Amino acid sequence: MVEGKVAIVTGGTRGIGFTIVREFLKNGAKVALAGSRQETVDAALAKLAEEGFTDNVMGIAPALTDPDSVAAAFASVVDRFGRLDVLCNNAGVSSRTPLVDYTLEEFNKVMSINVTAVFVCTQAAARIMIEQGEGGAIVNTSSMVGKYGQPSGFAYPTSKFAVNGLTLSLARELAKHKIRVNAVAPGVTHTDMVDALPDSVIKPLIESIPLGRMGEPEDIACACLYLASDMSSYVSGAVLPVDGLSRP
Ligand code: NAD
Repeated sequence: MVEGKVAIVTGGTRGIGFTIVREFLKNGAKVALAGSRQETVDAALAKLAEEGFTDNVMGIAPALTDPDSVAAAFASVVDRFGRLDVLCNNAGVSSRTPLVDYTLEEFNKVMSINVTAVFVCTQAAARIMIEQGEGGAIVNTSSMVGKYGQPSGFAYPTSKFAVNGLTLSLARELAKHKIRVNAVAPGVTHTDMVDALPDSVIKPLIESIPLGRMGEPEDIACACLYLASDMSSYVSGAVLPVDGLSRP
């Protein structure tokens, strides 16, 4: 579905991002996975090599909120693979702290990685795509809580509302360059984080999902694959729920 396309996936070292990287590779893309540290990037590359993915994948570890660091890392991807077609802004941090305990530091951390990094990376990618003159696709990982809010840890849903706003606005701004900007909005997805929760939390949660199961990282990755591919060439400014019909 993305044969010959070059993609960058932030937060590509584990969880949903790692699965996006794998699905893109399986579907013929060349992929740069971005992680926060070189060690985790190397570990992810080693895991992919075990699965037979070696030639078409590389790792980068820019500071996602530093425009110079991001520009240099993205330039290294263009140096290696010759172009850039797709950016998945997937890196993100969650939070569950109640308002009265929230520190400014925690608020800034969530906003910085979940919003500022999306701006910085999208700007760097768009500059490359505009110069190429052949369009492109930006796919942001939002969340169902970016539509409904959540009862604690308000900065996280706040940041995902911002991701949706950025998605809708930049879709309009970049349309003239044939750059499409979309987002996926996962519901509860089966990653390490969720595995760590006790059964007493997980069971009622699953029971509340109309499709009767938690999302798997592949569910989200397939939606990203669609939005990155030419199959969605007439879709922009969409926030696609991938949540088993969870509507709290
Ligand atoms: P995860 O914690 O397994 O992965 C998060 C990724 O973001 C990691 O690769 C991590 O290295 C990267 N990251 C975090 N902080 C970073 C930083 N400062 N610099 C660079 N990279 C950083 O989580 P996940 O569940 O795979 O989440 C991926 C995305 O999906 C996030 O945007 C998250 O908000 C969103 N999401 C997840 C769920 C879920 O239930 N798992 C639901 C809705 C949305």
